[in-house]
Amino acid sequence: MKLRIVDTAIIVTATAFLTIGCSSSDKSEEKAPPPKKMMDKSSDVTVKVVKKTHDTPHWGYDGLFGPALWGNLDPSFSTCKDGKSQSPIDLVYKKPTSTQKIEFLYEEGPLAIADTGHNLLATGTKGSLVSVAGDTYNLVQLHIHSPAEHTLSGKSFDAAIHFLHKNSAGQILMSSVLINEGTANPVFDQIIKNVPTTKKKVEKSGVNFNPKNLLPAIHTHYDYVGSLSHPPCTEGVRWIVLNTPITVSKEQLAKLKGYYQNNSRPIQPLNGRTVTNY
Ligand SMILES: [Zn+2]
Repeated sequence: MKLRIVDTAIIVTATAFLTIGCSSSDKSEEKAPPPKKMMDKSSDVTVKVVKKTHDTPHWGYDGLFGPALWGNLDPSFSTCKDGKSQSPIDLVYKKPTSTQKIEFLYEEGPLAIADTGHNLLATGTKGSLVSVAGDTYNLVQLHIHSPAEHTLSGKSFDAAIHFLHKNSAGQILMSSVLINEGTANPVFDQIIKNVPTTKKKVEKSGVNFNPKNLLPAIHTHYDYVGSLSHPPCTEGVRWIVLNTPITVSKEQLAKLKGYYQNNSRPIQPLNGRTVTNY
């Protein structure tokens, strides 16, 4: 993961990926670019800083800026209300009839974290990949929602980590790891204990981490096509939701909720989409 600072005040080329930058001061000028233009190389996140202090239109998780109104906040968010294949969804269990090979080839590297204003986010470690049935995607970033967004046959979970990947064609694969309260996770600790005090800024923590240690041992999963679960709600995102949760401790969850009590989009209609259990 290479961060390139280009100029002086915050605009993130990969707004939808990093979810950094959300200002209520100026809603008119900045349009969220389509994903292909956001990043040309998945291992190369360009944090482009421009002299203007505006960025993407302000959005949040409650009140007038909450999920029910995202689609009205800005024309670039219209997919949030008009889209027909939105995320998250309720994933209903069906007995798998086949398997799909999925390999998380994540590498250890420096842990860089941001409090984006919407979630806690860690940048992907260099060289980290996921391979799904032979298709390879680079890990761009991971971020945390509380509670989890996807539900499993109606069951909700305390939190979830979304791992955002992108392939050479610009397609997004988001994998989700569900979290339940239980035994503490040391890597989760590294993240929640190194959150920068300044918001919307990626800062190095000074420690190394391996995102692999945030994955469950079993990789059975749901596979479906949906969207980014936050503005601009871009569709065509492939979701791999692992159905085995990891655990973090009660204290770790409390610390997470100290940052974000509820940064979770409600369940969206399935609209006839196919979800495959593997
Ligand atoms: Zn997410």
